[in-house]
Amino acid sequence: MKGVERTLAELVAFPTVSDRPVTGIAAYLAERAEALGMRVEKLDSAAPGKCNLVCSAGPQGTDGLVLSGHMDVVPVEGQPWTSDPFRLTRVGDRLVGRGSCDMKAFLAATMEGLARVDLRKLERELVLVWTHDEEVGCLGSRALVEQLAGRPLPSLALIGEPTSFSMLRMHPGHAAARIVCTGRAAHSSKPDLGSNAIALAARVLAALETLAEDWRRDVRFAELLERPFVVMNVATIRGGSAINIVPDRCEIEVGFRPLPGMPPEDLYAQLAERACGVDPAHVTAELLRVTPAMLTPEGTRLEALLRPHAARAELGAASFATDGGNLERLGVRTLVFGPGSIDVAHKADEYVPVDELHKAVDVVAEVVARGCGGVDSRRP
Ligand SMILES: [Zn+2]
Repeated sequence: MKGVERTLAELVAFPTVSDRPVTGIAAYLAERAEALGMRVEKLDSAAPGKCNLVCSAGPQGTDGLVLSGHMDVVPVEGQPWTSDPFRLTRVGDRLVGRGSCDMKAFLAATMEGLARVDLRKLERELVLVWTHDEEVGCLGSRALVEQLAGRPLPSLALIGEPTSFSMLRMHPGHAAARIVCTGRAAHSSKPDLGSNAIALAARVLAALETLAEDWRRDVRFAELLERPFVVMNVATIRGGSAINIVPDRCEIEVGFRPLPGMPPEDLYAQLAERACGVDPAHVTAELLRVTPAMLTPEGTRLEALLRPHAARAELGAASFATDGGNLERLGVRTLVFGPGSIDVAHKADEYVPVDELHKAVDVVAEVVARGCGGVDSRRP
């Protein structure tokens, strides 16, 4: 292997599953960026072994481009892989490995594409933003909102998530809430002396279902989304300790996906009101975390740069959340566009097609050359 395939193999070899450190891959990417003459800032997050990496070139404070991606990958346990997930393996015209598509292909293509551009000659600033813990709720980019507050950034970002080179300008956010139902323990032979927390949870679930129906009727962004409403998922439930005890506690975790323009806190307030309204003295709710939605207007300069490379003329929406919601909080508008298909991400034998990986190198070189006023040395 050589060139971008070798770089991808080196990136895949870091087993950066979200519960593990990213310091190794960050050091590798920092070294590659420094070799290209970029300024490198490693921004440590609160959790040990977790950092974001910001690399830049060109005149600071000028409005060039941000290229962004996450360094972490999803776990491989329990999946029927046919090869070592952390060793990039070529099978026909596919490169197989965990993160090959989501989204180390874009990281590799960026490092290779930038090697073709004379970064010293950029007229506008190029900023690379590599994040940690995207896969577990965009935690790295959330930390970035504070880490980069006050730093002028280019106004447009490309996040190279796998979209098979479709341009996506919107996605719902994600929020998680915990609901706790409290009962009173008793021997199961005398249930009238206790109060069953699981039975209370059943009434709470029914109340949540009517809220989910209300949300389904509030249709927005029908031109962009397959499910143009706030989606709710009752994700986990835990309660009870033994067959002969009336349970005194039942805990429910609920996820929901706010659309752009719908403050997650408002939706959570509705959810808490419905859930706690069942029995205010014995039901409590708590908002655990929020990943913001993203909406980028049509007609940006970045869209014009990507259009010649796009698989489809129309801009679409992603069903999954990205770091773009947090970048939006920093005043940066994102388009999601990259090699590989989200349909094979997160699964066994995840792969990126070889030709898409190579095409991504060309796209990065050209988009940076045109978007930041540099020169792509391979352009005729
Ligand atoms: Zn991803």
